[in-house]
Amino acid sequence: MRERKKDELREVEAKVGIIRNADGSAMFRDGNTVVIAAVYGPRSLPKFMQDEKKARLRVYYNMATFSVPERKRPEPGRRDIELSEVIRRALESSIFLEKFPKTVIDVFILVVQADAGTRCAAINAASLALADAGIPMKGLVSAVAAGRANGEIILDLDKEEEDAEDAVDCPIAFFHNEKKITLIQMDGKIKLEDLKKVINLALKGCSKIYEIQKKALKERYGEEK
Ligand code: ADP
Repeated sequence: MRERKKDELREVEAKVGIIRNADGSAMFRDGNTVVIAAVYGPRSLPKFMQDEKKARLRVYYNMATFSVPERKRPEPGRRDIELSEVIRRALESSIFLEKFPKTVIDVFILVVQADAGTRCAAINAASLALADAGIPMKGLVSAVAAGRANGEIILDLDKEEEDAEDAVDCPIAFFHNEKKITLIQMDGKIKLEDLKKVINLALKGCSKIYEIQKKALKERYGEEK
């Protein structure tokens, strides 16, 4: 049973600089969903893979075998490949990729614990990890889902809510500096007027997450970043 208000996020935690070997890294926790992201780059690429005009952004989304109650098969499945691509698209316009032609920036995402909302937590962690790597960015990208469960429009569905019979889940990523939605997806059927409420609720959630992300960066770097 939901103990939060309808427009309340789960308990959110963000931490930057958690993996020493990476150029940049971050952890993002949304309730029982925990994701880590590690960034390597910009680094060189074999010539045939280079883009003359900009850096290539590669994203690898993966779930740990122990992240869900039933063991997750370790090799990337169709869902992992699709999520890697939508996360890449959600992030790419926030980075000055043209500053590093012919190179690659790799973003590795590992879902440590999954309780719905992993693609959004992944975007939040990855955006922080890119900033931590010192990669020139236009700004941060923040993401959260809103939707419907048990007849109510709610923010940030957990797995139990996502499994409700009437569930609708609409993850949204928002790139604040350009006021642009960079990811929007939807599972389930909903009336247009309710969809508008869902989108507005998710956008309010993104603003709250943005504040938490900025706080995590300030905690590591002080006010200058
Ligand atoms: P998201 O995690 O972005 O909400 P989905 O809607 O595809 O993406 O997945 C919802 C939730 O279902 C996941 O967060 C996770 O809790 C669970 N889930 C996804 N894939 C698996 C899997 N292979 N095994 C068990 N649970 C899974």
